Amino acid sequence: MRKRTGTSVKSTRKAATPASNGRAVPKHIYVFGGGRADGRADMKKLLGGKGANLAEMTNLGVPVPPGFTITTEVCRQFYALGERWPKGLEAQLAQQLRWLEGVTKKGFGNPKNPLLVSVRSGAPVSMPGMMDSILNLGLNPDTVHGFIVKTENPRFAYDAYRRFIQMYGDVVLHVEHKAFEEALTKQRLAHSAKTDAELPAQALKELVGAYKAIVKQRTGRDFPDDPMEQLRGAINAVFSSWNNERANVYRRLNNIPNTLGTAVTVQSMVFGNMGSQSLTGVFFTRDPGTGENRLYGEYLVNAQGEDVVAGIRTPKPMAELKREFPKIYDRLYKIGQQLQKYFKDIQDMEFTVEEEVLYMLQTRTGKRTARAAVTIATDFVKEGLITKDQALLRIDPAQIDQLLHPGIDPKAKPRVIAKGLPASPGAAVGKVVFNTRDAVELAEKSKVILVREETSPEDIEGMAASQGILTARGGMTSHAAVVGRGMGRCCVVGCNEITVREEERHFTAGDVTVKEHDYITLNGTTGEVMLGEVPLVQPELTGSFKQLLEWADTTRRLRVRANADTPQDAKVARGFGAEGIGLCRTEHMFFGEERLPVVRQMILAKDVAARKAALAKLLPFQKQDFIGIFEVMKGLPVTIRLLDPPLHEFLPNTPEDQERVSKQLGIDLRTLRETVNSLHELNPMLGHRGCRLGITYPEINEMQTQAIVEAACELLRDNVKVIPEIMVPLVGHPQEFHVAKAVIDEVAKRTIARYKVTLKYLVGTMIEVPRAAVVADVIAQEAEFFSFGTNDLTQMTFGFSRDDIGKFLPHYLKANILPADPFMKLDQDGVGGLIRMGLQKGRATRKDLKVGICGEHGGEPSSIEFCHKVGMNYVSCSPYRVPVARLAAAQAALKDKK
Ligand code: ADP
Ligand code: MG
Ligand code: MG
Repeated sequence: MRKRTGTSVKSTRKAATPASNGRAVPKHIYVFGGGRADGRADMKKLLGGKGANLAEMTNLGVPVPPGFTITTEVCRQFYALGERWPKGLEAQLAQQLRWLEGVTKKGFGNPKNPLLVSVRSGAPVSMPGMMDSILNLGLNPDTVHGFIVKTENPRFAYDAYRRFIQMYGDVVLHVEHKAFEEALTKQRLAHSAKTDAELPAQALKELVGAYKAIVKQRTGRDFPDDPMEQLRGAINAVFSSWNNERANVYRRLNNIPNTLGTAVTVQSMVFGNMGSQSLTGVFFTRDPGTGENRLYGEYLVNAQGEDVVAGIRTPKPMAELKREFPKIYDRLYKIGQQLQKYFKDIQDMEFTVEEEVLYMLQTRTGKRTARAAVTIATDFVKEGLITKDQALLRIDPAQIDQLLHPGIDPKAKPRVIAKGLPASPGAAVGKVVFNTRDAVELAEKSKVILVREETSPEDIEGMAASQGILTARGGMTSHAAVVGRGMGRCCVVGCNEITVREEERHFTAGDVTVKEHDYITLNGTTGEVMLGEVPLVQPELTGSFKQLLEWADTTRRLRVRANADTPQDAKVARGFGAEGIGLCRTEHMFFGEERLPVVRQMILAKDVAARKAALAKLLPFQKQDFIGIFEVMKGLPVTIRLLDPPLHEFLPNTPEDQERVSKQLGIDLRTLRETVNSLHELNPMLGHRGCRLGITYPEINEMQTQAIVEAACELLRDNVKVIPEIMVPLVGHPQEFHVAKAVIDEVAKRTIARYKVTLKYLVGTMIEVPRAAVVADVIAQEAEFFSFGTNDLTQMTFGFSRDDIGKFLPHYLKANILPADPFMKLDQDGVGGLIRMGLQKGRATRKDLKVGICGEHGGEPSSIEFCHKVGMNYVSCSPYRVPVARLAAAQAALKDKK
């Protein structure tokens, strides 16, 4: 046994207690209460979010029931020691319990004046509802008497007792929840009570006996009466809950390391269920859906904590609290404002009122929708709470993607079949499924909407796989609502107009029955549930979102362009703030009823003359496309890529199609088949494509250049400024570029001369074959710009066929062979190494070489940060990702500054 130097509260406040072997035993436990605390808000790693903030609230003078927190370090040691307690914990626990008895003036296990505690879990990162807390711990046949004497309320005492056994039985002893529920129902029937509240004290006392019998029967052991044994069991259960299935799933989905561990907070109980002047609730300091400045939450009179979240009784909105308990409301408002100001962020808080006395039980940063996040951040800047830079850094670029999701088309006339609570905004269309497994399965093929009576943490994977979530029960702070908002899923909850029959795989709304796999549409902004596939409309940039992005624009160094192939796409891109087009793929212009036959004529041509004749017919189409795009992009650069895909992609591949095309084009069927077969390649992605096409058939490059330059010259004549950048794809050898550029320049010069204008254009290349990166210095002698085509570059650097990765990538990710899908997140070491090399070599030759990226990665935040770091001029991404890229580029610049 180690010797203690003292047992006073004071000595334990030091960082460590000396041990007999001379080495310090670490401080395992941090107390809060009685006006001061050991911990602080910035100690979340050690004390968990809950413990750290309870300590901070105590320090700030906010009323918090006293307690103490066992550190996450203890949890880590617990696992390291094979689920045993580290040295010194037992002694420190005993000591801090004595301290807690002192401040509360109660005794743990004291039958006259019992101290009851809750045992709460708290990870360093908020994991809502992931781990279970236990309330009313410390009750046994002796203390319940003391409790009765003290409260003069036997009914209340036995209710607390039976709740405790139920929670403890469930969480610590793993006795099925259902077993207790059945006993409760039986007791209700026996006493002909409609609700639990109508059960008299005697019935609840009997229930305690029945519950204990259940525990004995299921576990073969008596329910522990010794409060110390109860406490040890509960602490261990919290540690163990760190490793339960749903906690693991949540961490995996949210990239939270498994090594963090959870803290355990032991806190003296307060009771919101002591009668009509007691209540409990949760609220946000601002509306987490819209960001609106008002208290937003729910409460229940005469209820204990979990009742609000569980969705069993329907709670009342905060607005009603203002009427029912104005003094409490005022207090909460002030505390909320105080903490919001202190933490400089929206707070999500839990409170309980015990006979008119208010206690705060938790505060944390409120999870919010992207819309609310943006509104709150810009408002806080205006209120002087945070700076613009802080506001920009605070918004997760991946989350603002939500704001770029569609809404219901205002012109649509949908059939609304039910209305629930609008828990997470946006609109979603999908096929109905009724459980997580089906959601995950069907999501591979189709958009899905998960419909549940109510969701539980087991549903997280299904929710992640769905476009939207619909539940029949639960309030705005129910599991589905909180998780849906966090994930940015459109979510309608508490829709009690529907009856969900999960087993029978349908739900009804009035006289409408919606079966599994039927389409429905949800509007998470209004709570409406609609039949079928309702048309959606695309979002616009307005208000605080626009404001925030304007701040981003003044902060970032990277330009942001869009990948757009049509005037329509170009318009959308401009609307989202694109500063040019980084990739205009011309092959998309080759499809369509009028064009495809001509393209086929071109491909099937027997000689150059016939091919030229077909190309001449294509020219006006292409020119028209370019005029449209240049007009939208007035004066902004437009990078046009010459024809890239293998030609067989344009040819008919089924016998029926071939027959049709042979008739349509007047080509003998056999010849057609032979040509199609001759164009067949074993490895088309490495075959006759990219610049290889224009080199073997220069007339293709000639036609495309002519179309681009004619379009530009005509607009120039009408005084529309045009900056065309002609891009040669898939160059690997400098000579390839040299040959292609010679043709382009020749045609361009001739055309410009014909129009008698001065047109400046650039000719550059994509760097997407690894060899090109290696010889980039030579390529840059002629190339006037580089654009990294990271889709092909990733494909060829890894040697992974993008179309075949499904067979092995999932395994690679699971086995941690790769940290992420390299087609989504740029592989900075490998592919990024080639980019760095190509860029440096290119700039060594041509100091002012314009360099950008046009692969999928151009819209992915971590890849954008990389592009900033290596010194690119711009990123280019799909139009809807442009706002994400603007923000990510600003964040990259701010992080660089630090
Ligand atoms: P979670 O992490 O799931 O939110 P909590 O530890 O916050 O779990 O506990 C759940 C509920 O139990 C809380 O909403 C709170 O109302 C109630 N609760 C926890 N500790 C106490 C306490 N000491 N006194 C009264 N209620 C408590
Ligand atoms: Mg909580
Ligand atoms: Mg490519």
